[in-house]
Amino acid sequence: VSDPVAWIDHAVRLHPDRPFITTAAGVVYSYRDMRDLSGRFASALALRGVGAGDRVAVQVDKSADALMLYLGCLRLGAVFLPLNTAYTQVELAYFFGDAQPRMVVVRPQDRASLRDIVQQWQIPHLETLGTDGDGSLLALAGTCESDAYRRFSGEPSALAALIYTSGTTGRSKGAMLTRANLASNAVALVQAWSFTESDVLLHALPVFHAHGLFIAVNTILACGGGMLLLPRFDANEVVRLLPGATTLMGIPTFYTRLLEHPGLTTATTTHMRLFVSGSAPLLAETQRAFEALTGHAILERYAMTETLVNTSNPYVGERLPGAVGMALPGIAVRVSSPDTGAVLDAPDSVGMIEVRGPNVFAGYWNMPEKTNAEFRDDGYFITGDLGKIDARGYVHIVGRGKDLIITGGYNVYPKEVEGELDALAGVLESAVIGLPHKDFGEAVTAVVVAEKDVVLDEAVLLDAMNGRLARFKLPKRVLFVTELPRNTMGKVQKNVLRQTYASLYD
Ligand code: ATP
Ligand code: MG
Repeated sequence: VSDPVAWIDHAVRLHPDRPFITTAAGVVYSYRDMRDLSGRFASALALRGVGAGDRVAVQVDKSADALMLYLGCLRLGAVFLPLNTAYTQVELAYFFGDAQPRMVVVRPQDRASLRDIVQQWQIPHLETLGTDGDGSLLALAGTCESDAYRRFSGEPSALAALIYTSGTTGRSKGAMLTRANLASNAVALVQAWSFTESDVLLHALPVFHAHGLFIAVNTILACGGGMLLLPRFDANEVVRLLPGATTLMGIPTFYTRLLEHPGLTTATTTHMRLFVSGSAPLLAETQRAFEALTGHAILERYAMTETLVNTSNPYVGERLPGAVGMALPGIAVRVSSPDTGAVLDAPDSVGMIEVRGPNVFAGYWNMPEKTNAEFRDDGYFITGDLGKIDARGYVHIVGRGKDLIITGGYNVYPKEVEGELDALAGVLESAVIGLPHKDFGEAVTAVVVAEKDVVLDEAVLLDAMNGRLARFKLPKRVLFVTELPRNTMGKVQKNVLRQTYASLYD
């Protein structure tokens, strides 16, 4: 099935009364409800003059209605543009100016404060959507009929969504995702992870990001399963609802928080079929602790806004801690030299990870040069991540291209140094960055979080690393913090660290 709307209709025909979404409060939306509500949203948008290809920018709190709006856009052929609820007005102005949406949908309480920017960018429509059945767009949808857009099916190459990247390495870029991108990846994941219509996904991720929106929701739609929809991650709530679920998709912080929760035991998790992690590196230590406690090996996979899921550890077979697994069927992954661009075929060669397949996006919105620069002539997309492929085909990410440290002319891969640090007694986690240095160009610098109640000493750590790594890889300094700066998806913000300590070696 090559179009997301086709699944919706297929699932509705097959089992109209099956729960698609059950909220934390126990409100159930069946597949039939979903088709009707998404159809009403599509009609409401059309009534406001939104057509195929128009962007609908949405900054709302997570709710079943928010997902219905997403599906309504798919039905209409409008381009769904979700925005992180943490974005400020200044940030929104950038996204509005860049994407030129035809409609902006915000929380009811934000309407007044956003009126000026919406006017400034000449966006024709400002609507609201709340989490309590409130909001102007929902009211409008309530007056609309649900049938008109049931059968819309766009070209596979038509844009389905414009998703801005997380902005971890610089300004967010708008990734243009087609209907075929969404469809192919969901189908691949259903197969790779053995999803069936009996699956119930515990959904605690935000829905303004590819992970919670596409990897979670589309996979469930494609298999005809159901979701337990939490407004946000809350370890108590996750533990409370686990008995009704078969699978959980999370970011690494979900798992570290769950590990601290007394309710996470073998008994409360034996019925679970699958735990998946992504968006940021899962520490091998978290992976091992989770398996020791529950008997479940978390399945780690590698995705990007631009490509959705590229690689995954196997559902059947070894889930290798610290690795992100093999390319999904239909997707090709390779590694190339960061210096020359030559493809590196030998196993374990470290280089830029490149991918090609039906999952790869159509380019960056309004950035033809950037798009050109990130694609090879043979269609491979240069991810910007550094990694290697081992002899068994497992991909290992060693860091971001932008985080590669060049010190005195030598390349240092942060992950290697972080691995050594993390293995030292008392170290919970670390981030290794390059800071400006007048002799070395960049100086390898470690930022370390100690385990609870442990006091660490810089000289002791430096001494312990000595002899384990080549001299040029050794940190010049080790700094201590109580926690690493992370964004909502649990990604460590090394740019923030680089800014904070920019003048350390002045
Ligand atoms: P920007 O592109 O704006 O700098 P971003 O790359 O963080 O932000 P996303 O598209 O949300 O934006 O994240 C994709 C990145 O997340 C990947 O390129 C990779 O670096 C990281 N990532 C995703 N899954 C994993 C994983 N399992 N292990 C390590 N890193 C991962
Ligand atoms: Mg990126």
